[in-house]
Amino acid sequence: MPDDRSTIAARLNGVREQIARAASRAGRDPSTIRLVAVSKTFGAEHVRLAALAGQVDFGENKLQEATDKMARVADLSLRWHLVGHLQSNKAKKAAAAFDVIHSVDGAALVRKLDEGAAAAGRRVELLVQVDLAGEATKFGAGEGELPAIFAAASACEHVSICGLMTLPPATDNPGDARPYFRRLRAIREQLRADGIPEARLRELSMGMSHDFEVAIEEGATIVRVGTAIFGSRTYP
Ligand SMILES: *Cc1c(COP(=O)(O)O)cnc(C)c1O
Repeated sequence: MPDDRSTIAARLNGVREQIARAASRAGRDPSTIRLVAVSKTFGAEHVRLAALAGQVDFGENKLQEATDKMARVADLSLRWHLVGHLQSNKAKKAAAAFDVIHSVDGAALVRKLDEGAAAAGRRVELLVQVDLAGEATKFGAGEGELPAIFAAASACEHVSICGLMTLPPATDNPGDARPYFRRLRAIREQLRADGIPEARLRELSMGMSHDFEVAIEEGATIVRVGTAIFGSRTYP
């Protein structure tokens, strides 16, 4: 059973307040920070309750689970974000379903997403996931691969890169993520200096339930929050 409406609404309001406080600590305008509610493993009813509480952006990490859920809330005007790894054989379907894809990690994937978006007659925003930890288990592009990814996207008409995303190694201490968040911002500055247009570098998607305040202090424009809104996940 979904948590009742007031629980999800109360948690959402709590997260929004935390976002506002972190923004004000950093001297930033809270309206420049977008909250993506990560609804993976939760049902369409949870999405509906969050939407009733004013939430528009939702994040999912698996294509099939996401498209099933989208179909059940098709009557709502929501914006869907893919935050999990995307295999290239699913790129076309992902481009047909999602508005923003946070996990772009290669030039070939960019071109497949462009084909998929063209076939579906839509435009899709992309974020390049940067692997800062260099962990074998992590996805994302290395810094050296970024120029080729931006170049591939600049030749595309149906997708456009609008920023960077990162997922630091999981730790209990939110402060441990700060150097990774700082690093992502520094990489953006470097890309700017290298001549990548401002519109391609607008967003920094970083920060989850336990560390989004730190991410906002370090410049996040999109935070991806699941547990703090929907409660803890149980995996089948
Ligand atoms: C699950 C997930 C989140 C949300 O994590 P919480 O800790 O539940 O807030 C954010 N980003 C990505 C990439 C995820 O997979």
